[in-house]
Amino acid sequence: MKNTLNQSVTVIKGIGEETAEALAAMNIHTINDLFEHFPYRFEDYRLRDLAEVQHEEKVTVEGKVHSEPSLTFFGKKRSRLTIKLLVGRYLISVVFFNQPYLKNKMKINETVTVTGKWDQHRQTITANEASIGEMKQAKSFEPVYNVKGNMTVKGIRRMMKLVFSQFGHDIEETLPQHLLSRYKLLNRKDAFRAMHFPLNETDIKQARRRLVYEEFLTFQLKMQALRKFERENSQGVPQHFQLERLKAFIDSLPFPLTNAQKRVVNEILADVKSPYRMNRLLQGDVGSGKTVVAAIVLYASYTAGFQGALMVPTEILAEQHADSLIDLLSPFGVRCKLLTSSVKGNKRKEILKDLKEGQIHILIGTHALIQDEVAFKNLGLVITDEQHRFGVEQRRILREKGENPDVLFMTATPIPRTLAITVFGEMDVSIIDEMPAGRKAIDTYWAKHNMLDRVLGFMEKELKKGRQAYVICPLIEESEKLDVQNAIDVHTTLTNYLQNRSRVGLMHGRLGSDEKDAVMKSFSQNEVQVLVSTTVVEVGVNVPNATFMLIYDAERFGLSQLHQLRGRVGRGQEQSYCVLLADPKTDIGKERMRIMTETNDGFVLSEKDLELRGPGDFFGRKQSGVPEFKVADMVHDFRALETARSDAQTMIESKIFWESEEYQHLRENLLQAGVLEGEKLD
Ligand code: ADP
Ligand code: MG
Repeated sequence: MKNTLNQSVTVIKGIGEETAEALAAMNIHTINDLFEHFPYRFEDYRLRDLAEVQHEEKVTVEGKVHSEPSLTFFGKKRSRLTIKLLVGRYLISVVFFNQPYLKNKMKINETVTVTGKWDQHRQTITANEASIGEMKQAKSFEPVYNVKGNMTVKGIRRMMKLVFSQFGHDIEETLPQHLLSRYKLLNRKDAFRAMHFPLNETDIKQARRRLVYEEFLTFQLKMQALRKFERENSQGVPQHFQLERLKAFIDSLPFPLTNAQKRVVNEILADVKSPYRMNRLLQGDVGSGKTVVAAIVLYASYTAGFQGALMVPTEILAEQHADSLIDLLSPFGVRCKLLTSSVKGNKRKEILKDLKEGQIHILIGTHALIQDEVAFKNLGLVITDEQHRFGVEQRRILREKGENPDVLFMTATPIPRTLAITVFGEMDVSIIDEMPAGRKAIDTYWAKHNMLDRVLGFMEKELKKGRQAYVICPLIEESEKLDVQNAIDVHTTLTNYLQNRSRVGLMHGRLGSDEKDAVMKSFSQNEVQVLVSTTVVEVGVNVPNATFMLIYDAERFGLSQLHQLRGRVGRGQEQSYCVLLADPKTDIGKERMRIMTETNDGFVLSEKDLELRGPGDFFGRKQSGVPEFKVADMVHDFRALETARSDAQTMIESKIFWESEEYQHLRENLLQAGVLEGEKLD
């Protein structure tokens, strides 16, 4: 980047201190920041034929004033001005609110251009802009910018003119020429100009194409460089596991592995064996059998003489995983222990001591596992479950714990491909895309709240067969703001409804962990038949006798979350059911309920979820790790994203990228992003 563009905006003639302050409030400090403050949409001022304009669409037309305008006042300030305008063969009305001064300008036969909303039924445009007289040059598109504080869109437009006339020629190319030719991309200067001063639709399209590609490429280079250097520079340990023992373990499982499970086990074991440090994401839908994959890999590491750790987000889940790993692995001499924050006193001391001496082979727990006081003898492998809650930074911290262990991240929320390669772009990815045979699909229904009686009747039929049910509510207690069912109320209602026929338990995040455990235990031992719960049960919980789930106010949840919740049933031999209780107000809301009833495929749902809610909301608000792009849109520009990713991969591995002049700019970006240290460029 030429230094001139790194100068403060105050060097632009016509921009003073005050304006500079207003810009600073919008995070625009340098000339380059201003150039890169791209419009988020364009106002379309092209003249249109009214025959093609939809009701309520915004439109610009040109016509001749046909009769005397009529002006009505309401009180002192409010007024309505109506004119008849002859537009081609249409005679329409145009209404202006609170612009009485226009009356004198609207002379009969005068040519007028107006922009506003078209009411097809009343053949009327409610105008917010007008210009009088023949247009010298038709405006076509005007950029619309995000603004804050005192700044106006017009102000930004004015500044763009200033900055382009004074510094436009300093905009430098950042991409190598051969890429511009290969993809027929505008050069950077032209792209900037077309973005801020488009003459037509093609300008906007071409400018976006170029800027989107550059943005994705820069981002993917960062991800791929991270991936490469972490692989090569983090000294991993080759783990020479014993294949025969591993095969014997796999043969002992009560079922054959699915082909997908075999494939991912091989991918993961190749990493474990290699001297590189594993940094891999394992994706698999709810119930696809990730736990057993984790067990196999942990066992492999054990036969190579290493300890392993399995980290999960909740204590309930930690206990369940501990139970199943102990079941699977203790016959093979592996000692597994559970460590959570509720393990205290002497018991805790003993575990920590045994761990340090290597008496414990596999430790299972919550975040408590990566605290400083927890020391392993020779930790070789860390597996985290449901890790999509962490961003890139948290993942890096975890990898930097301890003695360079291999790290496997597991997630049951299938991640749309576009997000997988952005949010997890620095990782290798394995996917279990096949369900164990004989799994029955869960029947899902969507019911309105006024059908609750029938739904409860349905639930009771299942209970009478000896089955159990989950009832999920969005909130714990009544909230004044949100009219949603809450767990405590629903618990009372159902207790009354079921009388002594079934027992109803209550579970939510505000219970202490002992209380939670007690509730969970009584549900899994069928002492309680109906569990009313918030989304605490979302991840991992396994009670195969539960065949019915009712979700209150289902429209409040994302599709992926609903799918996760629904995955708590359908875990046994019997047919399971899920009822979504919802009265969605919007079309999108209805569409989401419908999709839930139509598919059980988590990958399909996750793509839909992304499409309907956008990337920011996909993972929920907290720590989404979703990068923000200025121009690019991960969902709509996914083809460009894939292209950029594969180009970035090739570049990072090629010598030319690290040496040749034409990649200078892209390399500097990596430096700035802190991916590379200076000396690595030499
Ligand atoms: P996930 O963690 O991916 O949601 P789990 O590992 O909990 O899924 O597996 C769900 C259920 O499927 C478990 O009861 C498990 O024993 C069973 N399972 C796993 N793999 C297979 C397989 N290959 N064939 C049959 N059942 C399997
Ligand atoms: Mg699981």
